[in-house]
Amino acid sequence: MDYEELLVYLKELNIQIVPTEEARVRGYDLETYKKLAKRTETIDYDCDFRNGICKGMLLGGGGCCHQCAVGFGYWRKEGPALDEASVRAMAGYFDAQTGFMRPGIGCVLPREFRSPTCLYVFCSEDEMSEEDREVLYRIQFGASWSKR
Ligand code: SF4
Ligand code: SF4
Repeated sequence: MDYEELLVYLKELNIQIVPTEEARVRGYDLETYKKLAKRTETIDYDCDFRNGICKGMLLGGGGCCHQCAVGFGYWRKEGPALDEASVRAMAGYFDAQTGFMRPGIGCVLPREFRSPTCLYVFCSEDEMSEEDREVLYRIQFGASWSKR
C-alpha cells in the first residue's frame, strides 16, 4: 500500500505516529525493541503453512494472523509505538485485505517491524530453547521483566 493511503487507514484505526524518541514498545525505546524483535529470526515457532493453512487454523482457531489487517498486525493495541520511518518501511508490505499475511506463505513483514503480540504468540514451543523463551518473555512482559 502507498504510504499516504496507509496514513488514512491508520487514522481510521486510531493508530498514532510519534517522533522516534517518544515511541515506546512495552517500555522499550524503538531501537532496543527492534533488536529484540530481530533476535526472534532464529527462533523456530514450529508454524506450518505447507497446505496453505497454519496449524492454529487447523486446530479450529482463526490462527494468530487471521485478523492482521484490522489491527495493523496487532500494533493497534500498543499505543504510541510507531514512528514515521517504521510506518514508511511497513507500507510496502501491507495489503488492505490480508494485512501482512500472504495465504500459503505466512507473514511477509520483517521481524523488527512486527508487534509484540506477533512475536510472542506461538502454538508450539517444541523447537524453542530456554534462551528463546527468555527473549519472548522480554517481548511479552516488556522492559520491566526480569529473570528470577
Ligand atoms: S503460531 Fe500462529 S501462525 Fe503459527 S501455527 Fe500457530 S496460529 Fe498459526
Ligand atoms: S505475524 Fe505478520 S501476518 Fe501475523 S498478525 Fe503479525 S504482522 Fe500480521
